[in-house]
Amino acid sequence: MSLLPCPNYIAGEWLTPKIGTTPVFNPSTGDVIAECPAGGTAEVNAAVEAAHAAFPAWRDTPPVERARVFFKYRQLIEANFDKLCQTVSREHGKTHVEARGSIFRGLENVEYACGIPTLLFGDSLKNIARGVDCDTINMPLGVCVGITPFNFPAMVPLWMYPTAIACGNTFVLKPSEKVPLSAVLLGQLLEEAGLPKGVFNIVHGGRESVDALLTHPKVKAISFVGSTPIAKYIYETGIKHGKRVQANGGAKNYIVVMPDADVGKTVENLATAAFGCAGERCMAGSTAIAVGAAADRVLPELIKAANAIKVGPTDRAAQPDMGPVITAAHRDRVLSLVASGEKEGAKVIADGRGVKVADAPRGFYLGAIVIDGVENNMTLAREEVFGPVLNVMRMDDLDSAIEQANKSAFGNGAAIFTNNGRAAREFTMRVKAGMVGVNVGVPATMAMFPFTGWDESFYGDLHIQGKEGIQFYTQQKVVSTRWFGGDVGDVWKK
Ligand code: NAD
Repeated sequence: MSLLPCPNYIAGEWLTPKIGTTPVFNPSTGDVIAECPAGGTAEVNAAVEAAHAAFPAWRDTPPVERARVFFKYRQLIEANFDKLCQTVSREHGKTHVEARGSIFRGLENVEYACGIPTLLFGDSLKNIARGVDCDTINMPLGVCVGITPFNFPAMVPLWMYPTAIACGNTFVLKPSEKVPLSAVLLGQLLEEAGLPKGVFNIVHGGRESVDALLTHPKVKAISFVGSTPIAKYIYETGIKHGKRVQANGGAKNYIVVMPDADVGKTVENLATAAFGCAGERCMAGSTAIAVGAAADRVLPELIKAANAIKVGPTDRAAQPDMGPVITAAHRDRVLSLVASGEKEGAKVIADGRGVKVADAPRGFYLGAIVIDGVENNMTLAREEVFGPVLNVMRMDDLDSAIEQANKSAFGNGAAIFTNNGRAAREFTMRVKAGMVGVNVGVPATMAMFPFTGWDESFYGDLHIQGKEGIQFYTQQKVVSTRWFGGDVGDVWKK
C-alpha cells in the first residue's frame, strides 16, 4: 500500500521536508499508512515567520470578514464529513460513531468562531470624567501555537485555531505525530475556505518542533493538550520564555454510583464512559465508586455489558462497538498497569485482555476490562491508564466516596449517578473537579463553555473554549478619549 502524504503547511505551501520521519499506524491493522515528518527548528522558524508576516493584515481584517471564512469552513467540514471521519478512524482507531461525534464537537467550535463579531464586543462607558469617554478593545496577540495529543486528531485542534484565528491571531499547529493526517485534511479545507496564506500553518514533529515553538521570540501564546508531565513542561518552559500558556494535562475521573441509582441507565453510561473511544479520553470514567448496596445492584450488569462489547477494526463498513488502542506499546502499558493492580490485590471481573480479532490479527486490540477491589495505594488507582479499563472501588457512604475522589492529583471530571437531588448537590459542591456530571457519565463541555480541568489536569489561568478561550487569545486595550476646544457647529457647516 502506498503511503499517504503528510506535508507541512507553511505560508500557504504544502511541503514535504526530506528529514527523518516517524511511522503513522492504522491501529486497526497494525500497518504503517504514512510517515510523519520529524519537523525541526528550520520548519518551525519558517512557519512562525510566515504567521508573523501574515498577522498585521489579518489583525486589520474586520471581524465580520474573518467570521465569513469560518462560515465557509463550516460548510466545507460538513461537505467532507465522511472523509474526515474515515481519516480519524483510520489513523486513530475510533469507530465511525465516535469519529462523527468528535468531529461534531470540533465543528461546534467553528460555529462558535462564526459569532466572533459579537464575542469581541468591548465595554464602553461615556463621561467617566467630564468630557472623557472610556472603551475597551479586545486586541489579538499575534502568533499563537497549538500542540495537540493523539486521542482526538480533529476535535482538539478545532478547540484551538478557529477561536484564535477568528480573534485576529495567526496560528501554527503542531499535531500529534501519531495522528497527523486529520490535521492535514482540516488545513486543506481551511485553505479552501479562503483563509489568506500564512494565517494558518502546520508543522509536524515531536520534541524538537515543540521546543523550537516554545522558545521562539515571535510566538505569543501556546495552547497545549496532552499528558500531565508534558503539560507541566510546556507551561514552565512557555512562561519562562514570556508566552501566555494554557496547558491541559491528563486525568483520572471518578464516577460515584449511589445505591438508589437507576441500574440500567447507570450501567449504560458507565460502559460508555469507561470503554468509549477505547478509554482513550481525558474525560473517560476510569474509576467507579460503588456506594453501599450499589455494588451488588450494578456490578453483575456491568460485567455483562463489558463482556458484550465487540472489539474489531474500524476501517471497514461493518463497525465494532470498540476499536483498537493507538499503538502496540500503549496496549502493553495498559496490560502492565492491570497486572500491577492484580499483583497488589485487585481482582479482574471482566477480562478483555486476551481478545482476538481474527480478521485483523496485527491490530492493537484490548477488550473491556473491569477490575474490582482497587485501593487508593495501588498504582492502578493513581496513574492515568488511558485504555478500556474501569477500576471499581467500594465505599460505605457519599462522604467517603467524595473523600476518595478528592485524593486524586488530577481534577478534570467527576460524575454521580443518583435519583437523590440532595446527594447530587452535595457531590457537585464538594468534589474536586472542573467538570461535573449529574447522571452524565462524560461531562465534557461544549464549545460555549470552558474546558475546566483543575490541579494536575491543567496549568495556566484561562481554559480552552468559551469566553475564557476568547480572553486567552486576546489582550485588552482600554482607551480614554477627550476632545479639546473647537466649535462643533463649525464642523457641521463644512
Ligand atoms: P503526549 O503528552 O504524549 O503528547 C501531546 C503532544 O506533546 C504531542 O503533540 C507530542 O508530540 C508532544 N510531546 C510529547 N512528548 C513531548 C516532549 N517530551 N517534549 C515536547 N513535546 C512532547 O500526549 P498523548 O499521549 O498524545 O495524549 C494523551 C494524553 O492527553 C492523556 O494524558 C490525556 O488525558 C491527555 N488529554 C487531555 C485532555 C484535556 O483536555 N485535559 C484532552 C485530551 C487528551
